[in-house]
Amino acid sequence: MYRSDSGELATARAELVRYGDRLLADGLSVGSAGNLSVRVGDAVAITPSGVPYPDMTAAAICLVALDGRRLDADGGDGGQPETPSSETPMHLAIYAATGAAAVVHTHSPEVVALSASRRELPAIHYAVTELGGPLLVAPYQRFGSDQLAAAAVTALNGRRAVILRNHGAVVYGADLAQAYHRAVLLEWLARAYRLALAYGEPVVLSEAQLEEVAAESRRRRYGSGRPPRS
Ligand SMILES: [Zn+2]
Repeated sequence: MYRSDSGELATARAELVRYGDRLLADGLSVGSAGNLSVRVGDAVAITPSGVPYPDMTAAAICLVALDGRRLDADGGDGGQPETPSSETPMHLAIYAATGAAAVVHTHSPEVVALSASRRELPAIHYAVTELGGPLLVAPYQRFGSDQLAAAAVTALNGRRAVILRNHGAVVYGADLAQAYHRAVLLEWLARAYRLALAYGEPVVLSEAQLEEVAAESRRRRYGSGRPPRS
């Protein structure tokens, strides 16, 4: 059983509250929309459903097993527990399908606009290699459904982010800071793509060009002595 006083879990709860506030401040979601989670061993700490970010406390963060079972039936601190995010099935599906240690789901406006209008985010800038390459838009499914979770995983297609039609984005990383950074990057790329379209159909980078960028990034990372990240 996971106790609210475990150090790693306490850190995860605090980080989820902090990045939830940033989600609003950075315009990646409004109200209580969007959600974030962190994997702690065999458990997932995830933001609660329907709690506005400014009101969210560390004790409100929910804890579920990788199979969706609640692990904090007593609310962690003995109080009444909040309900885990409605998109918990999608977060768990991403953990099951990838090496993710943190997942961020946003309703960021540039991504939403793209999701309603396009089938993919093409490689109009080499920074898309940080997301694994050009991204697909997953077919529309109702929020919170197992069908949405399955569609998201299918359209991930080996990338570290996926766009959800008429909905938003899901991004993962080796920790919450990296997943969040990638969500910001994805919003920036979607905006740059929209601006590029204003000039006409943009030139996109080839697979060979993207592979060259990825290889150079790996080389520089190894040269720096920093460990590789998923
Ligand atoms: Zn959503």
